[in-house]
Amino acid sequence: MKIENYIRDIQDFPKEGILFKDITPLLNNPQARTECLKILVDSLKGQQIDKVVGAESRGFFFGMLLANELNAGFVPVRKPKKLPHETISASYELEYGIDTLEMHRDAIQKGDRILIHDDVLATGGTAKAVCDLVTELGGEIVQCNFLMELSFLNGRDKLGKFPIFAALTY
Ligand code: IMP
Repeated sequence: MKIENYIRDIQDFPKEGILFKDITPLLNNPQARTECLKILVDSLKGQQIDKVVGAESRGFFFGMLLANELNAGFVPVRKPKKLPHETISASYELEYGIDTLEMHRDAIQKGDRILIHDDVLATGGTAKAVCDLVTELGGEIVQCNFLMELSFLNGRDKLGKFPIFAALTY
């Protein structure tokens, strides 16, 4: 079972010049999904995780599977004004302009051992913002993991000292 066979390249999505990595074939195949989950869990080498933090929206799919497998809580990080309770926010730069992500203030307690998950590590802006949210609440980031790392975009450099794992690297 090669999980890379379940990632589909879409040329010029969402705009011209971008080669989009589509994970929907992976989501749609239970054997590939199970294999991918195993790769991600094995990378933790038995380290205890209290909460998995997943980034909207493609980080929710495997984020929740990971939380279940690790017997951990799941914390959604969302676009502004989606979460109903008191939030904290972090902003990051896009090519043009800035974007903001939010998390519930009471979702993480100081000292919680946190696994951050998203589908793709590209420029690292999204993952860095999620790290900032977790750090602000005193969470201890055990690992940031991804289905894929687009290594030519050097997102890793933005995440500094935090351990990073990707099931696939392009
Ligand atoms: P970054 O902030 O530049 O690292 O971009 C990562 C975010 O953009 C993640 O939340 C991804 O869901 C999304 N993303 C970037 N490139 C792709 C792609 O090729 N396929 C799917 N999602 C992508």
